[in-house]
This record gives sequence, C-alpha cells and structure tokens, in this order.
Amino acid sequence: MAETHGKPVPVPTRETLPFWEGCRRGELMIQRCGECRHFQFFPRLYCSRCMSERVEWVRASGGAEVSSFTIVRRPVSAAFAADTPYVVALVRLDEGPTMMTNIVGCSPESVRIGMAVEAVFERLTDEISLPQFRPRSG
Ligand SMILES: [Zn+2]
Repeated sequence: MAETHGKPVPVPTRETLPFWEGCRRGELMIQRCGECRHFQFFPRLYCSRCMSERVEWVRASGGAEVSSFTIVRRPVSAAFAADTPYVVALVRLDEGPTMMTNIVGCSPESVRIGMAVEAVFERLTDEISLPQFRPRSG
C-alpha cells in the first residue's frame, strides 16, 4: 500500500491491474470465466468455480444492491476522522459477485439492505480511483 493524505492507496498487481485501469476510466471491470461463464470478483488468475485459467475481463453494469452494511462512527485512523460517519457495505453486483465498498451520496442513516445502488469513482491519485456506490438514479 502507498499513501495519500495518510490514507492507504491500493497498489495494482498483475491480477488487479485491469480492474484499476477500469476504475481510472470510470468503468467497473470484473472477470468472467471463458469456460463456465461464472462472474467473479476479486480478480484471480483462474476461475474460482471451475479452476479454468481462461478468465476474461468484462465491464460490469455498475448496478448493485446493498446486501449488508455498517455505519463507521469511530475513525480507524486520524486520516479518516473527517469522513465519519461513513458507510462500509457489501453490495451484490447485478452480475452476481459481492464487493466491499462505501455507500456515498446519501446520509448514512438512509442506507437500507436491498437498496439499489450504482458505481461511482473517487479519484485518489493519477493511477488509482476507488469504486464506491451511491443510490441508483431513476
Ligand atoms: Zn469457470
């Protein structure tokens, strides 16, 4: 991990580079197995269902549903103090995989399980934008 303003910044690896390049473009990239068509996140060099190495990158719709969440009121470190309260959530992507993320663009108290959300990207550095989710518009 690198840092910016005291916050950790992800460092892309061979497995995750296409994901982070997608985030930089404003596209949520996940993997699909070329054999069994299973979608997966986080990125791996093989399919987590059938172990095939024929995994390909596809752009996800960006749509998801909140499946679990918590409101963080005590910062994990001083760098996050100004962000509290904030929401850490598990969201289920329309394609199936689950991601851990933040829910933004609404008050923490308005977040609900089952809430429809969509991906947005927060630029941290020239290389890294973080995927987050906000209430789905429309
Ligand atoms: Zn597979």
